[in-house]
Amino acid sequence: MAVPQRPVSICGAGPAGLAAAITVARAGGKAVLFERRSDVGGRFHGDFQGIENWTTSGDALEELASIGIEPSFPHTPIREGVFFDPGGREWRYRSPDPLFYIVRRGSAAGTLDQGLKEQALTAGVEIRFGESVSRLPEGGIVALGPRGADAIAVGYVFDTDMPDAVFGVLSDALAPKAYSYVIIHESRGTVAACFFEDFHREKIYLERTVEFFTRNAGLRMRNPRRFGGMGNFTYPRTARRGRILFAGEAAGFQDALWGFGMRYAMLSGHLAGRAFAEHREDDYDRLWKRRLGGRIRASLVNRYSYERLGDAGYALLMRRAAAGDDVRTWLRRHYAPSFWKTLAFPLARRAVRSSRKEAECLMEGCDCTWCRCQHEAARRRERLLEHAAKE
Ligand SMILES: Cc1cc2nc3c(=O)[nH]c(=O)nc-3n(C[C@H](O)[C@H](O)[C@H](O)COP(=O)(O)OP(=O)(O)OC[C@H]3O[C@@H](n4cnc5c(N)ncnc54)[C@H](O)[C@@H]3O)c2cc1C
Repeated sequence: MAVPQRPVSICGAGPAGLAAAITVARAGGKAVLFERRSDVGGRFHGDFQGIENWTTSGDALEELASIGIEPSFPHTPIREGVFFDPGGREWRYRSPDPLFYIVRRGSAAGTLDQGLKEQALTAGVEIRFGESVSRLPEGGIVALGPRGADAIAVGYVFDTDMPDAVFGVLSDALAPKAYSYVIIHESRGTVAACFFEDFHREKIYLERTVEFFTRNAGLRMRNPRRFGGMGNFTYPRTARRGRILFAGEAAGFQDALWGFGMRYAMLSGHLAGRAFAEHREDDYDRLWKRRLGGRIRASLVNRYSYERLGDAGYALLMRRAAAGDDVRTWLRRHYAPSFWKTLAFPLARRAVRSSRKEAECLMEGCDCTWCRCQHEAARRRERLLEHAAKE
């Protein structure tokens, strides 16, 4: 890779921003990472998340290693889980290869976030905590995470005497249009409801989720601490505004079906860093579309279809998934781009509305890191003042 001549400014030290900074620094460039909080992982609370391992036949951690991200953070492969359909019927899904890798998120030691930070510091990245950048006149990478809620997740992290296990349930009464889950690992647990509509009833869905898993999975929580968060999903026409490149959820990159965004965040961050390292900023849209575009488009079509299933459809889907002995292969087939998904994509894109549109702002000369758009607002103010002065 060529070496970037000027320092590359990167806003947001989540997985996307950290991956971008690691890539720039490993290529011999200077990466300056701005994080508005006092440490990495501040958006999360020690909850368990899964790095999905079903969208490609190869292994997700090997894919990360191939882009220079070492799996040095604690991670646990999961090959089996118990899932319930809306009627409470239990299905056990297995796969010979890991279905996903559990990681912890947050600022504490042992989280993915701290692991990536260590790698960034070792590579020579300068991280400026407590600094928020709103303009990037020289260009840079915007990896600020979500800016609107297309989905939310609410839950508890807790201590427990339960054995390690993963449980899930698909039911619109518990988590409309998505799912609820429990992950137990080494006497710590996460229970959450993740849903795509009816956000104001989050308390009710969380209560129902806890009650469901207490009854069906023997959920036992000690010292529960509440957490919550949101996610953005979209397929942007472009993730570039001049020399400003958007990565991770700031660009809307996510698995739109079930919200597994970490892999997309790290991959897109790496590609944005590579575009700068190789002086190919103009090429970024082509890079992410080639590497991630098919997967994200397929996930949007999946979301569109899933939202039409309802409880009866979820039950049927779960029965089908249980028919083989390798649910990972079944999932990969359903997540794969296909001819009919390409046909359905324009419809799905219109129908699955995202609250995040701003990265698509193509206003000439705009250098806002998060475009609401600050330039446009300033111009509107000027026009109003001119108008008022004339009157
Ligand atoms: C409850 C919950 C559960 C989830 N579970 C999973 C899961 O199981 N698997 C999975 O793959 N994904 C999961 N996700 C999604 C995943 O966490 C995100 O997709 C991923 O973290 C996105 O990474 P990012 O770097 O784009 O953004 P973020 O992780 O949000 O990082 C953005 C960073 O930018 C910083 N920032 C924001 N504004 C500014 C500013 N103006 N200046 C400087 N810094 C700023 C923030 O403080 C933050 O540190 C979950 C999300 C939530 C909320």
